[in-house]
Amino acid sequence: MPEIKYNRVILKVSGEALAGDKGFGINPPVIKQVAEQIKSIHDLGVQIAIVCGGGNIWRGETGAEMGMDRAQADYMGMMATVMNGLALQDGLEQLDVPTRVQTSIEMRQVAEPYIRRKAVRHLEKGRVVIFAGGTGNPYFSTDTTAVLRAAEIEADVILMAKNNVDGVYSADPQKDPNAKKYDELTQLELINKNLGVMDSTASSLSMDNNIPLIVFNLNKPENIRKVVQGDNIGTIIKGGTK
Ligand code: UDP
Repeated sequence: MPEIKYNRVILKVSGEALAGDKGFGINPPVIKQVAEQIKSIHDLGVQIAIVCGGGNIWRGETGAEMGMDRAQADYMGMMATVMNGLALQDGLEQLDVPTRVQTSIEMRQVAEPYIRRKAVRHLEKGRVVIFAGGTGNPYFSTDTTAVLRAAEIEADVILMAKNNVDGVYSADPQKDPNAKKYDELTQLELINKNLGVMDSTASSLSMDNNIPLIVFNLNKPENIRKVVQGDNIGTIIKGGTK
């Protein structure tokens, strides 16, 4: 067995990562690719919990901008993350990876409710746990959910999977040829430089609780495996201020 650096990880998969070229909805071939990547580290014995986003289906903010009540629109966003969670479960099960979906908003017919101790037990038994439904509260994001769950289950790191972006840059590399990629940052620098990797709630939670984060490109095969083996891929953002 090759050595692994991170034994228990939270993988944050944004809704966008499941949408493919259209940028909207759920694309089963894309789900299959993501599931294959997850399987590759599951095969190494890494304990994996996934927090899925919902932005490919619905974002609360967009609803609010169009005149909806923000909390109502956010609950719709949380529902969207459940659809993505079920799609990911399907993709993983087709590859014979055992999974459980846990939702923070009860939906007993489709998923278990979120129970921290049970989630940890599943991980110990080698099941991939998919956390859907965000935090269960409006006005939060699934990035904040990833940090919260990482703290709760004592994950070693949060792996933030990006689409075709291989880390954190000083500016948008598509627009600015002088954009510089950072190999390492702290959460405090991320907040001060306003680099927009996560919302400030998620960043401060990660900073206060010393939870490291690695931003990397999921679209390059082998990347996720290299990350859990400790290769310097993407940008590592250390929790804390130093
Ligand atoms: N959401 C929420 N509370 C949470 C997590 C998510 O209200 O704890 C809602 C919010 O409306 C958000 C939507 O769910 O816009 C989808 O989540 P997010 O935008 O984080 O998904 P991603 O950008 O990762 O696809």
